[in-house]
Amino acid sequence: MMQIAVRRVYLGVLLAVAPLGSAARAQGGKLVVLVVVDQLRYQDLLWAREQFGPGGFGGLGQPVQARYRTALTHTAPDHATLSTGTYPDVHGVVGNSLVADGKPIEAIEDPNCENWRGTRHQGPGKLLVPTVADELKLATLGRARSLAVAFKDRGALFLAGPGADLALFWDYDTGELTSSRCYASGPPGWLAELQRKHPVSEWKDYVWTLSRPEAIYARLAERESAFADSYGFGGQFPHRVGREPGKSLFTALRASPPSTTIVLRAAEAGVSGMRLGDRGETDLLMISISGLDYIGHAYGTASRERLDMLLRMHDGLSEFVSRLRARLKGRVSFVLSADHGATPSAQTVTAARLFGVELQFSTLESAAVDALDKQFGRHDKWVDLIDDGVLVLRRFPDVDPVRAAQTAASAIAMVPVIWRAVAAADMPSQDLVLRHSFHPSRSGDVMFVQVPLVTVTGPDIASHGSPWNEDALVPVLFATPGFRLRPALQGGILDPIQVAPTLSLLLGIAPPSAAFAEPFLVAESAR
Ligand SMILES: [Zn+2]
Repeated sequence: MMQIAVRRVYLGVLLAVAPLGSAARAQGGKLVVLVVVDQLRYQDLLWAREQFGPGGFGGLGQPVQARYRTALTHTAPDHATLSTGTYPDVHGVVGNSLVADGKPIEAIEDPNCENWRGTRHQGPGKLLVPTVADELKLATLGRARSLAVAFKDRGALFLAGPGADLALFWDYDTGELTSSRCYASGPPGWLAELQRKHPVSEWKDYVWTLSRPEAIYARLAERESAFADSYGFGGQFPHRVGREPGKSLFTALRASPPSTTIVLRAAEAGVSGMRLGDRGETDLLMISISGLDYIGHAYGTASRERLDMLLRMHDGLSEFVSRLRARLKGRVSFVLSADHGATPSAQTVTAARLFGVELQFSTLESAAVDALDKQFGRHDKWVDLIDDGVLVLRRFPDVDPVRAAQTAASAIAMVPVIWRAVAAADMPSQDLVLRHSFHPSRSGDVMFVQVPLVTVTGPDIASHGSPWNEDALVPVLFATPGFRLRPALQGGILDPIQVAPTLSLLLGIAPPSAAFAEPFLVAESAR
């Protein structure tokens, strides 16, 4: 008690002699920023290279390759891989959905964490190991701060982990950023002020036009792309995104350039509001922007829509990066990567005279159900879930679940464009790339993976989720004063599990519990 009283007096004296702003500046501090671009292919940064200029995408330099060594490349598992430094077999977030107590649920469902309006339970509770932000909290006894901002709940929550100060994500009912009460009981003052200043109604008349001259799109993108009109934009620019505020607008925004603006604006307000990098500590900011993912699913990887989203993302990120640099000078470091890429749509693949196939989940489901009926007799509703490379079967008292899984796996494996279909019981003898995506109590009954350039999907035009380079090879960019790429890695391919130990190095802490890989950076002073 004595000590606390003494410290308070000391702080009081300090505040009396110097205004807060100059005291903070004198203190210094650093900020480490991780930017995750949802669905950014390594090829994307080569595709539009000339448009990014000498500073590179977002002003963050030239890309290095990194490849996910996992069979199933999706948002939730790969954000968790970036933040924890290990794969889903260890961190436990095997998919955007996973099995809990025998039932498929969304990975972000977390009974302990209600969102701010009390309408859903959304939290990072399914992570089995700590994130970098968790480790930062532990290592500094809470002094260092961390903030995650994303459009997607799974992006924010699985980057953050439970130990972050705040994880913000979009609320589709209100058109505002929200969070979980596990972090804070409601919006901090800086966020409330931001959302007052920029209500979602500011987008109600928004029309999405091409940001560059027509010749650039004519050269680099498809003239017309097959599209799924998931957002009512139609097939040609300009796209009318704006409409009266309501669920339709709040959903349309995610697949259009404002989704980048909304996230970056909140991240910048958070840096000011939480005084990140300005308090004598090394703080952590994590951002996930997902406009490319939503538009890629709807219009394909080579569409004008996706190209313009990428170019506008470059513009937005470049401004964001230069403003943070102006604010913090050499005290801010950036690492940028992606959770996965995407496979070109069947139309795009076919146009290159390759074998483009779009396979519906329902085709695989029928193959499995026919085989199960034949083997075990007709049963009502065999399949609880088929999505993202995972099949979850319903349990019946008269059916051995292991044999049922093997029957379904054999049937799916016979579908011509399937590379592997493996029952859970047979997983231990499989390739590492499959085992990295598998957790025995969470992965359901069968994992299946298509051959390259095949899209397995529902209503979308394009998707991701395979271990092939289209989906698994992502760029890594870094702008890290005082640190450079480890010379031995020059020209090599990084592993995304190196991102967490690299962030830890920049933060000056030991890597989180399960991050066993080596950082890809080394201090410039190191010999
Ligand atoms: Zn996606």
